[in-house]
Amino acid sequence: ADRAHPDGSPWRLGVMGGTFDPIHHGHLVAASEVAAVFNLDEVVFVPTGQPWQKAEREVSAAEHRYLMTVVATASNPSFTVSRVDIDRPGPTYTIDTLRDLKAERPEAELFFITGADAMAQILSWKNADELWSLAHFVGVTRPGHELDGKGKDVSLLEVPAMAISSTDCRRRVAAGDPVWYLVPDGVVQYIAKHGLYRDIPGAPGPHV
Ligand code: ATP
Ligand code: MG
Repeated sequence: ADRAHPDGSPWRLGVMGGTFDPIHHGHLVAASEVAAVFNLDEVVFVPTGQPWQKAEREVSAAEHRYLMTVVATASNPSFTVSRVDIDRPGPTYTIDTLRDLKAERPEAELFFITGADAMAQILSWKNADELWSLAHFVGVTRPGHELDGKGKDVSLLEVPAMAISSTDCRRRVAAGDPVWYLVPDGVVQYIAKHGLYRDIPGAPGPHV
């Protein structure tokens, strides 16, 4: 349901898209920091759909990525999770995410949150004008990536640097190394319970 403030001012809704394979504390810190600085009422995490072409790696099932995102955000009353991208067939385009969310939450003002690496891709999108009309864009720093708004209408924000990536978490699980404190406790347990990331092509495999 759409939510609004009693005084009629728009609900400030952050949108954090990602593969979340798995979700980690870099994602959560970025969302929390943007929420504080931009005075957001809520941040909705939107796990991406399943890519139909076989990419260079197999992405975990959408349902696993969705549930890990739910587990990771459950304790924060301002964090929610949306299924719009995982319920839409095919790969995810930011424009579809924003259109669908806007249709569900017409009264909300959207703030799309993205890391420096993903920002470059989005800025190069051909129908960028429609993107700007649907949401404000907030680019956050990420260790190892330059933050460059290229003069576009994006806000740039330094978040406490967390050199955590999902790629590294997957490699660590495959190698039998701990991911405690890189991802939320419930996500550590979810990964173990479902045996995720044990067999990553190219990863060294468990130490013997
Ligand atoms: P992978 O290594 O599989 O690419 P990832 O760690 O980059 O995973 P994604 O799900 O691809 O995670 O990222 C979703 C969004 O979160 C992107 O906008 C990305 O730039 C941002 N992000 C990811 N990790 C961090 C981090 N440590 N600090 C800030 N932003 C991050
Ligand atoms: Mg990434």
